[in-house]
Amino acid sequence: MQNGLAGHRARKRFGQNFLHDEHWIERIARTIDAKPGETVVEIGPGQAALTRKMIADAGHATAIEIDRDLAAWLKETFPETLTLIEADALKLDWNKVYPGKALRIVGNLPYNISSPLLFHLMTVADRVIDQHFMLQKEVVDRMVATPGSKVYGRLSVMLQYRYRMQKMFDVPPGAFTPAPKVTSSIVRMAPKKVDELLPVDLERFAVIVAAAFNQRRKTLRNALAKLLTEEDIKKAGVDPALRAEALDVEAFVRLARINA
Ligand code: SAM
Repeated sequence: MQNGLAGHRARKRFGQNFLHDEHWIERIARTIDAKPGETVVEIGPGQAALTRKMIADAGHATAIEIDRDLAAWLKETFPETLTLIEADALKLDWNKVYPGKALRIVGNLPYNISSPLLFHLMTVADRVIDQHFMLQKEVVDRMVATPGSKVYGRLSVMLQYRYRMQKMFDVPPGAFTPAPKVTSSIVRMAPKKVDELLPVDLERFAVIVAAAFNQRRKTLRNALAKLLTEEDIKKAGVDPALRAEALDVEAFVRLARINA
């Protein structure tokens, strides 16, 4: 598949589906609405479909690209206005990316690593203004799902603890080259302020949430048996006969605080 970068073949292992449709590229850029002087960091710039817009709007952008050929082309194409970090965004120590500066993170993410990447980015959430990502629609639906929904699960609870999230709009497969098999969606994530976060040991919270949803058809009494007694669950103000999908984030926090 010939693309903007002459001769570059889209690499499946890097989840490469390049945006080519100007209507959608512009709509995404307007949704992000970068302003001059902001520190915009893009994950996976690829052939610069969004990068060009970020540079035009913010005056400068920083991008993290794993593909060596694309990284070389990007450096050559934008010698002044783009800071290119050739790295794996999953392994990158984000605390070293402009320490102390407030970041706006954007990206049409490689779908094969989207969940681990979202969790990895929580390490810098305290200095992120917002994150705009294109992801598989099904993943965005899970992220923003509320209690009672079939797709409400671990991803929803863990991310909603830390971020306010909003699904913006869907993007059809035809906007990309090569076209993916699935519909994509844009999500906006704004970290909550640190003093708004419900106090909890995050590791314990993560363990409780994972166990509760691991066998989501089970009642909490059974799903959490190894971690909490029925009495503990009641002490947290939660009915042990419920299933994980019925609990909001706050109820999970209360469960994680028992015996902590
Ligand atoms: N932003 C471009 C666009 O919208 O056309 C490209 C999007 S493409 C879905 C994903 C991009 O992320 C590719 O350029 C790919 O090489 C890059 N990528 C994949 N895995 C990565 C990783 N672990 N770290 C950084 N970049 C990665």
